[in-house]
Amino acid sequence: MENYLYRCLYCGKDYKPNRRKKQKFCSNSCRTRAFVTKNSTGLSIAKKDAEKKEPLKVEKMSLAGVGNAAVGTLAVNVLTNLLTNEENKPATKKDLKNLASTLKQRYYPILNMALRQDGAKPYYDTVTNHFIYLKNS
Ligand SMILES: [Zn+2]
Repeated sequence: MENYLYRCLYCGKDYKPNRRKKQKFCSNSCRTRAFVTKNSTGLSIAKKDAEKKEPLKVEKMSLAGVGNAAVGTLAVNVLTNLLTNEENKPATKKDLKNLASTLKQRYYPILNMALRQDGAKPYYDTVTNHFIYLKNS
């Protein structure tokens, strides 16, 4: 039987330990609370440090004029990612509709030919494969 009283590391109360040496708290709830308190403190400190460091880093970069090239590369990478993401998006119903209407277009304007004397524009007929003049009216 243990006669020596231990002092709880959480609430400071003297208590009679059930197991010698191993026990640091008077009860399971004190043990748990002590653990939780320690953990949350450690987390908040780490978070504070990160918040403190971040703005300093950026400020230092702009003040010194160092790493402008790196920042430019970063911007290009971000832009590339945005464009890539756009391309990788699954086709929406609207996209498919646009594609269909483009394919349905029968006459394509020929841009490197002059207008006919009466003002009709040159077109390529994708159905007959003929070159024709059409008059917008
Ligand atoms: Zn306690």
